[in-house]
Amino acid sequence: MKYWKHLRLRTLLAASVVLDVYLLFHSLVALSQPQAQMGRDQAMEAFAALQPIDVHVHIFKTDPSFQALLERLHLTVMDILVMDDTQSYRKQLEPQITDAMALVRSSHGHVALCTTFDPYKFADPSFDVDAVKQIDRDFSQGAVAVKIWKNIGMEIKNPDGKFILPDDPKFAPIYRDIAQHGKTLMTHVAEPDVAWGPPDPSDPSWSYYQENPQWFLYNKPGFPSKRQILDARDRVLAENPQLRMVGVHLGSMEKNLDEIAAHFDRYPNFAIDTAARMEYLMIAPPAKVRSFLTKYQDRVLYGTDLDIVATANVRESLEEWQSTYMRDWKFLATSQTVDYAGKKVQGLELPTPVLQKIFRSNALHWIPGL
Ligand SMILES: [Zn+2]
Repeated sequence: MKYWKHLRLRTLLAASVVLDVYLLFHSLVALSQPQAQMGRDQAMEAFAALQPIDVHVHIFKTDPSFQALLERLHLTVMDILVMDDTQSYRKQLEPQITDAMALVRSSHGHVALCTTFDPYKFADPSFDVDAVKQIDRDFSQGAVAVKIWKNIGMEIKNPDGKFILPDDPKFAPIYRDIAQHGKTLMTHVAEPDVAWGPPDPSDPSWSYYQENPQWFLYNKPGFPSKRQILDARDRVLAENPQLRMVGVHLGSMEKNLDEIAAHFDRYPNFAIDTAARMEYLMIAPPAKVRSFLTKYQDRVLYGTDLDIVATANVRESLEEWQSTYMRDWKFLATSQTVDYAGKKVQGLELPTPVLQKIFRSNALHWIPGL
């Protein structure tokens, strides 16, 4: 009897272990299922639930389907103006500003404006006075930030033939004015390392230089080095401690999280956006990216560099907008894989409070008025 009892007990125990393993397995499957099977709609919902803010887009066309996307995703975007003398529309401030203001007004609070000034007028005696006047007018009409672009450092020369840099004394009154108004300076200065060469087809930005060879400086003597341009930007940070600056495109330090961290430690007035550089975070060691984004969770703003150009097929553009948002959200928020350059990249699965900051509240903090 004793033996049978013992055997029965063992059988029961074994059965219960089997049952436990079975239950454990199924609960794990159940837990992982929502993620593994999370479709686009669910991902979109989770993204929209954050009331996300994309601080870096360029819109040249208004369309009801774009407005519908913004509303569906509970999304706010900051439309950034750029002066670019290689494109006829972008070479003049007007009608860029008037068009952008109209877009902002029609957006029911979903679009904010980051204005700019005309750096090609640098040699005019009244350059700084005119720029300040125009920026102040734009602030009074609701602009929340001012952008400077890579043409400062890589294109525009002063009358002596030297490249102007971001810390040129002529810009000082402009920076002071932005700080006095409590607004934010968005700086896209310099470019990814690959712009200075050598050619590297594996770099995430390589295709850009295939299409825009004027910005590819390899074997082109006379241009400032990337270091010189970023040092000039850093002097602006040091000399204007009251000026909030967002270095867009990971602050042009896309391959060096340690360098970004050192900037954060050194300049309390400095933050970055992720625009068009998320891929660099995807190819960096995940543990390093996760600890960087966790440690500096108050300093990173979500941005994409998505655009709707004047000639765009809006439906196709919006497809790209949605897939970019889904990819970025999956990468930052989940443990699912996303595809990049034919590889599967594991999601970082950042904690919800960090996601809320990166996708929303950091933008509100660093760009008041958004
Ligand atoms: Zn941009």
